[in-house]
Amino acid sequence: MEWPKPAGSVCASCGEPEIVVATDPIEQTVAGRTYQLDGFKYNRCAACAEEYFSAGQLDDILRAANAAARAELGRLSGDDIAVIRRGLGLTQSQLAARLGVSGGLVARWERGTVLPNAMADRYLRDLRMHPELVDKGELVVREGRGPYRPRSG
Ligand SMILES: [Zn+2]
Repeated sequence: MEWPKPAGSVCASCGEPEIVVATDPIEQTVAGRTYQLDGFKYNRCAACAEEYFSAGQLDDILRAANAAARAELGRLSGDDIAVIRRGLGLTQSQLAARLGVSGGLVARWERGTVLPNAMADRYLRDLRMHPELVDKGELVVREGRGPYRPRSG
């Protein structure tokens, strides 16, 4: 399939043959900041103003906006997070469980399509500095349970 569609194609939203090829900067908001992103070629409908992007472009737009926000806010990159995670010997879902977030979110951080919030960023940096904070065996002690627990005092 040709992408973007040629000028004069029919708009999937309003049905008018008013599709144009646009290269205007795209606005994308990340962490409350709006960025103008150049370099995208996409379709817009001159009749209803709907804009059309390929799925790959949507990821590219998110990555570009997140990169701009990351530079401004001083957050870890997706590559940084993957390096920290692998250094801790954790899978994405194990790190997600440690942070109390979904495995899908960790995957999106590492792909660069979602920017980690300030708290997650700080925690990941703490884990990088202090890898001993991770319980690698994922063993959890439930205090006060079991007949063999020695009594203290
Ligand atoms: Zn339209």
